[in-house]
Amino acid sequence: MYISDKVKSISPSSTLAIDSKFKQMKAEGVDVVGFGTGEPDFDTPDYIKKAAVEAIAGGKTKYTPAAGTMELRRAICDKLKRENGLDYEPNQIVVTNGAKHALVNTFMAILNEGDEVIIPSPYWVSYPEMVKIADGVSVIIETKEEDEFKFTAKEFEDAITPKTRALVLNSPSNPTGMVYTEEELRSIAEVAVKHNIYVVADEIYEHLIYEGKHVSIASFHDKIKDLTIIINGVSKTYAMTGWRIGYSASHPEVAKAISNLQSHATSNPNSIAQAATVAALNGGEEEIARMKAEFQKRRDYMVERINSIPGVSCRNPHGAFYVVMNISQLKGKLLGGRTIHTSDDFADVLLEKAGLALVPCSGFGADDFVRWSYATSMENIVEGLNRLETFLAQEL
Ligand code: PLP
Repeated sequence: MYISDKVKSISPSSTLAIDSKFKQMKAEGVDVVGFGTGEPDFDTPDYIKKAAVEAIAGGKTKYTPAAGTMELRRAICDKLKRENGLDYEPNQIVVTNGAKHALVNTFMAILNEGDEVIIPSPYWVSYPEMVKIADGVSVIIETKEEDEFKFTAKEFEDAITPKTRALVLNSPSNPTGMVYTEEELRSIAEVAVKHNIYVVADEIYEHLIYEGKHVSIASFHDKIKDLTIIINGVSKTYAMTGWRIGYSASHPEVAKAISNLQSHATSNPNSIAQAATVAALNGGEEEIARMKAEFQKRRDYMVERINSIPGVSCRNPHGAFYVVMNISQLKGKLLGGRTIHTSDDFADVLLEKAGLALVPCSGFGADDFVRWSYATSMENIVEGLNRLETFLAQEL
């Protein structure tokens, strides 16, 4: 079949691939435990579901404006003011089909062919592919585990060329869980303003911070705010992954471009999910606190256990719900009858021989690591770590 060169060049999501392999094995009755998905295991809180039911009963079942209902865009502006100290007007907000869609919209709106986007690694697997979709070119800044996986303003400035259009800033980060401090963000903002570079600030994990606090880079002054495109959504914070609601907040001209694009590509996001999102954003502090406390307990346990297992190690991630585990000591070793050269080899062997599904970080630009998600029950976490410990003890 004839397929475009552009789409042929796009790799499938490695996180979704491992998850589908895991689900298939499970369906076939194989005893496996999975840590692949970035999806809270909690149910969507009842007050949000209730708002959706009321929206259906009340006839909120028709097209909405392409950029989202005025009610939701106002609720998003209120949230940005209340939680982030930011002043936005509804014409700066575009509600999308998940934060993923907000990111694709953004890259499409700000990139011409060959424009460069700086992405620090380890990065969320979708960023480089999204840049490709928009005909851009990713420029990777490698960060090191010993630097807490953070890049400096100097490294950012050194990566800038005349073709640089944007920086992707994901704090807290998927997959590393690192969180930039206000001081670090201020120096990054200074470089962005000096060189007139957009900052695509993916803040989807802002509520899941266990040490430190979230600061939006857009909050420092108008110059950086004009260059920042905030990306956020309700999937992670409100356990609403299936509802598919995200949004961008940006300069009105960028927002208009995004909205025009979206009006032809998908029209508006689901009207019922939009109504539920109004309820989500206007309430739920207690639920968020409860889920966060549970995530923190799981993280603490996972980090301690990993660091007690010979052959692997990890840092303490300060946010999100992932742990990247260093497997560099295992490379070159024979495990489960196979020499481990890459994180994919390790993940394959673990899945086949120990019934443990972890995500290889090759797709995240960090092949010395595999990613655990602790958005799963404590029972699974204990079982998964037991399996890793037993497997490595037998093989090493
Ligand atoms: N950004 C990051 C860093 C993510 O990890 C994810 C989901 O895994 C998303 C954005 C997309 O979230 P959604 O499209 O569900 O809103």
